Amino acid sequence: MTTTSTAPLDVAVIGAGFAGIGAAIRLRDRGITNFAVFERGDAVGGTWRDNTYPGAACDIPSRLYSYSFAPNPDWSHTYSGSGEILGYIDSMVAKSGIGPYIRLRHYVTGMEFDESTGTWEIAIEGSGEVRARAVVLASGPLTEPGYPDIPGIDSFAGHTIHSARWDHDYDFAGKRVAVIGTGASAVQIIPELVERAGSVKVFQRTPGWVLPRVNRRTGALAKELYRHVPGAQTLARQAWFYGHESVALGVVWNTPLTRVVELVGRAQLRRQVADPWLRRQLTPDFRAGCKRLLMTDDYYPALQRENCKLITWPIARIAPDGIRTAEGIEHRADCIVFATGFEVSKTGTPIPITGRDGRVLADEWRRGAFAYRSVAVSGYPNLFLTFGPNSGPGHNSALVYMESQIDYLVQAIGLILDRDLRMLEVRRDRQERYNAAIQRKLGATTWNSGCRSWYLTEDGFNATMYPGFATQYRNQLREVDLDDYTLVAAEPRIAPRVASVS
Ligand code: NAP
Repeated sequence: MTTTSTAPLDVAVIGAGFAGIGAAIRLRDRGITNFAVFERGDAVGGTWRDNTYPGAACDIPSRLYSYSFAPNPDWSHTYSGSGEILGYIDSMVAKSGIGPYIRLRHYVTGMEFDESTGTWEIAIEGSGEVRARAVVLASGPLTEPGYPDIPGIDSFAGHTIHSARWDHDYDFAGKRVAVIGTGASAVQIIPELVERAGSVKVFQRTPGWVLPRVNRRTGALAKELYRHVPGAQTLARQAWFYGHESVALGVVWNTPLTRVVELVGRAQLRRQVADPWLRRQLTPDFRAGCKRLLMTDDYYPALQRENCKLITWPIARIAPDGIRTAEGIEHRADCIVFATGFEVSKTGTPIPITGRDGRVLADEWRRGAFAYRSVAVSGYPNLFLTFGPNSGPGHNSALVYMESQIDYLVQAIGLILDRDLRMLEVRRDRQERYNAAIQRKLGATTWNSGCRSWYLTEDGFNATMYPGFATQYRNQLREVDLDDYTLVAAEPRIAPRVASVS
């Protein structure tokens, strides 16, 4: 491995979260070793490194929220907490031996394609430039904490904490805490906060659909079985996979099964909340699935604790000593917890990316991002995305989608290297046809049925979700179809490279 500007890397992977680590392992498995993973943080793990708020956990079963090529027989529960998931990522790095390929504290600030050499020039803050024949952009969509656009937000004189940048030194004992937001992060934080803080006020703008999440400890016997009979673990993963696939019928599309999902949500509300007024305040007014389902058994009970209060009046402004709601009440607070999600880049790019002929990807994505099968973009040869446009699942594990993307891009990069290509670029007509179909299909999904969510741009364009089953997503990425791409051979002046061992 080298980062001099004279000898290009075969591959630069940007980001060492789940996707970047998975890509690195699969590249190495394919015999590609001249690569580096550039990570701006000082540890691997991406969103699981950053989201350490109390109660942080995954609402997808761990046997499915993991890579099939790195099964873990030791998951302690059906659903794991963030610490255990981070431990899994660390153990993948250790077991696969990809540690030496990872360059921590390397902040990629932009990249530009040089058509004459068929390489990407990648700018790294404080370290100059690196060239690579192919790039895997694995920087992830949920990285930048998002703060609400509330007047006076900077005037608050107390302590503030964002869910994605938790302050573990802050002592909540006896404190008056205000939580803004009631999404997937908030419903995990609030049950922990009511245990620690003096009082908790939860500021809800939109109540979500809450469904039971039955979390069970994995017994020693089951772990032994998974350890010694790998087929048993594969079978368990498949069972979870197809179980989640069936849920798509009620969550992705608005069907009679959507009513069944809503019935389960209403039953959970009835079972856990006795007060009819509170129940009414917590009843969603949009189709289940339109926003992310909230899988928790602890949230409603936490809201009914003596020291907790749900506030449903809109926030008018944040003042130095607390939060003022629209009806004129001042809610004094010592600390505001912003569980308000992320700055998701749906209409730009996380870093400036300049492709062939000087085109700028952020300009092309100004009104909403698009790509071919979520992994490649016409005009940007040899660049591959993980968790790219329209690759989000609403009903299944993100890791299943990520694994398909990784296997696809490793195949594509293998082609570039084995055939000594200068450019492998997806055809624009294929990309346009693909996206027209995706947008048509999205029209029939619950996500586009009229609620506000981070899946949509301000204009209501859905650049985030994949409108189908995970099986369909996986199938479309099984093989790189060369008819979809334009292949340009390397100029004779570039010395032919020795093919990688596969
Ligand atoms: P989120 O889903 O975007 O929720 C943000 C919350 O903040 C919403 O309740 C939103 O209200 C509220 N909010 C935003 N601006 C506001 C304002 N100006 N005034 C009042 N409320 C405001 O963010 P998140 O909960 O961090 O979750 C983001 C994503 O992270 C999830 O969709 C999921 O993909 C991932 N996640 C996953 C897990 C897991 O278990 N796998 C756990 C946590 C997060 P509105 O609903 O009215 O917009």
